[in-house]
Amino acid sequence: MRLLLAEDNIALADTLCSSLRQAGYAVDWRTDGRDVQLLGEQESYDLCILDLGLPGRGGLEVLQSWREQGLGMPVLILTARGSWTDRVEGLRAGADDYLSKPFHPEELLLRIQGLLRRSHGREPQNQLRAAGLVLDEASQQVSGEGLETTQLSASEFRLLRCFMLHAGQLVSKARLAEHLYDYEAERDSNVIEVQINHLRRKLGKQAIETRRGQGYVLVGLPS
Ligand code: CA
Repeated sequence: MRLLLAEDNIALADTLCSSLRQAGYAVDWRTDGRDVQLLGEQESYDLCILDLGLPGRGGLEVLQSWREQGLGMPVLILTARGSWTDRVEGLRAGADDYLSKPFHPEELLLRIQGLLRRSHGREPQNQLRAAGLVLDEASQQVSGEGLETTQLSASEFRLLRCFMLHAGQLVSKARLAEHLYDYEAERDSNVIEVQINHLRRKLGKQAIETRRGQGYVLVGLPS
């Protein structure tokens, strides 16, 4: 299970990171709302713990933007004590649960377990649909009309996910590289070309168009 923790209070985040890791979760922690939004879009998390008062971009805006894009990962918002308007707005924006500060880490763990149980019973879970393709984020398989269910490698999956979030739009190589690599990894644009060719082999040559010097466009399966 992989969680995204968005919290700009360092002391609180430290405590939460260690208790979450102790509970067996992998945790990515970010403090800036813009980083949080980007990570949520490009990575596949089982759940996000989202503080509403974040620098860069407010948690509420981040959540709204995810939901507009059809990203359905469970989101638990953290709100300031007694701020019922925050809770109402958060739930309205698509949050699945909330917790008011201050809280005990144990309480957070229980809420997370509850949300994860609920989300895994939900059907169909983690499916992204665009350009005539259906991407299953849990199994990292793609299917579509005239396309048998096909297993993707981790890199192919990340690239296709990025394309599907921007179907029909021009996506630059630099943008794709951000989705393909971890932040520390070296970015090599030749690798992108190789991976795109792998994807074309699986989806059909026409599925991804090259715009010379600009990037690529996912056009999808022939209809
Ligand atoms: Ca805050």
